[in-house]
Amino acid sequence: MDAGLSTVTPDIARAREALHRVFGFSAFRPGQEEILDAVFSGRDVMAVMPTGSGKSLLFQLPALLGEGLTLVVSPLIALMRDQVAQMRAYGVAAAALNSTSDGAERAAIYEGLEARQLRLLYVAPERLLRDDTLELLHHYRIDLLAIDEAHCVSQWGHDFRPEYMRLQEAAQALGRPKTIAVTATADGPTRADIAQRLFFREPRVFVRSFDRPNLFLAMRPKADATRQLWDAAQSHKGESGIIYCASRRRTEELAAEFSQRGRRALPYHAGLAPVVRAANQDAFLQEDGVVMCATVAFGMGVDKPDVRFVCHADMPSSIESYYQEIGRAGRDGLPADTLTLYGLGDIELRRRQIEEGNAPPERKRIEQEKLEDLVALCECARCRRQVLLGFFGEDCAPCGHCDVCKGAVRLIDGRIEAQKALSAVLRTEGRFFFGHLANILSGKATEAVERHGHDKLKTFGVGADRSPDGWRGVFRQLISARLITRDHGDRDRLVLTEAGRRALKGEAPFDLREDVLAPREKGARKAPLTPRDADADLYAALKALRAAMAKAANQPAYVIFPDRTLIEMAKEKPRNLVEMGEIHGVGEQKLEKFGPAFLAVVKDHA
Ligand code: ADP
Ligand code: ZN
Repeated sequence: MDAGLSTVTPDIARAREALHRVFGFSAFRPGQEEILDAVFSGRDVMAVMPTGSGKSLLFQLPALLGEGLTLVVSPLIALMRDQVAQMRAYGVAAAALNSTSDGAERAAIYEGLEARQLRLLYVAPERLLRDDTLELLHHYRIDLLAIDEAHCVSQWGHDFRPEYMRLQEAAQALGRPKTIAVTATADGPTRADIAQRLFFREPRVFVRSFDRPNLFLAMRPKADATRQLWDAAQSHKGESGIIYCASRRRTEELAAEFSQRGRRALPYHAGLAPVVRAANQDAFLQEDGVVMCATVAFGMGVDKPDVRFVCHADMPSSIESYYQEIGRAGRDGLPADTLTLYGLGDIELRRRQIEEGNAPPERKRIEQEKLEDLVALCECARCRRQVLLGFFGEDCAPCGHCDVCKGAVRLIDGRIEAQKALSAVLRTEGRFFFGHLANILSGKATEAVERHGHDKLKTFGVGADRSPDGWRGVFRQLISARLITRDHGDRDRLVLTEAGRRALKGEAPFDLREDVLAPREKGARKAPLTPRDADADLYAALKALRAAMAKAANQPAYVIFPDRTLIEMAKEKPRNLVEMGEIHGVGEQKLEKFGPAFLAVVKDHA
């Protein structure tokens, strides 16, 4: 790693020292040092790195070491609040300026600026763009302008924010300071767009691998969704997780259902009163083991590092959003599980939403293609990580850490099934939903089947060995393999493609995924979070102390210490503050503030 840095610059040497002293981290994560080197050398930088890879450090460390101010533009107040709390816990002078700042906070900021003490100022884009803010900041030396979540600047990015478009104006007004833009999601066109809209000079662009090897990837057809999600959550008792739902109502239903069964679960969506939303988010951050049942309104800016599982109760909206959402699991690098449920209904619904939306035709086509990509990922018969990284332009070997690699997906010769299903499409002239066709194939004489005389068809009951649900799965795969398509000119009638016609005649092979729905197989592969040799009682006691301190300080637990730190304490059992200071994540400030209390607990268990 970093072969080019064999001779260490003085700046990098200072950065390494501060990494250890202030943050208590033993080494840089991949990419960090190389990017910091570019920043120190005066270059503008764009860094595209996956969630949890440690992008914040890229501007926090220069801020810490520099003389002037580092200005951080961040789109969300929650994100700022969190980072400011974290920085202060590390003993770094940081503040946030946004619509919630009151008079006292603003006065403290002016004082900090005037005394040249403030190292990091987080600011919301609309606030920065105000004349009074620019006028104020104009008087101080700005060493670095950092743009967090930089994909918001691009209309190609999926969280476009109009205020971000005007950041270049702000940079101009501030005398074009050195700039670093960081984001977790930007494909080629988005990167080009960011480069053009933010920078005055050609930035150095760093794109780190998108692989998150600690995440287990799994996708499953919806069978009994609530039970599937419950099992996933219960294989992580006492640990935090997020379940993303497509509707607000579903978040509330699921939270109620889980609560009734005895698991602490809370809803989160944009329709909740702000106080409720904030309270639920705080509970998720401060307590252990909360399941957040949320719409996609939740997550951006919540950088809780110890989320141990992320599920999708419904199919996400695109591969980018899928990856961003599961990326909220396991930011601390420890094992985490992900599970995405999808169903034919989801796919149909999305397709209709796109079709009936009022986007221009070109945009609709892009969205339809993004949807097809996602369906292809759901239905893939190859290593999921290979397929997923392929979408980001990366290659990898079969990963051994996804459901397909683990053999949860078996392929069988599906030639006969394909013939039966395709002929059902033809005999009903493509004018019926898959659910109806599935009933015909299974031989289920529903009212609708009888009304249309479909119980008289030759195809009726030819697939009685499979349930209607099983047949829906077959149709999903026929769509995914593009044997069936829709005739948009004829009310979306189902038609066979050329490949479909060949399959109907039995001329082409068709591999069918036989999803083995082994209901409880999950528990077996669950990696223990506490290392086997760590003292479990001690770990629990340390967590309890952390929870109490977090509650008292009204702060997220990980601002005190992340899980990894507590695990190491439980394992290493430091005997004094010097040994305590050697533990991962224990910098000098935290050692002074929290060290004695945690040491007392360790000694109690000695
Ligand atoms: P990102 O912004 O890329 O999603 P963060 O900057 O929030 O990620 O970092 C994720 C977590 O990793 C944080 O808890 C952070 O303190 C931690 N972290 C960052 N750099 C290192 C490092 N070099 N060693 C250990 N932990 C690190
Ligand atoms: Zn794999």
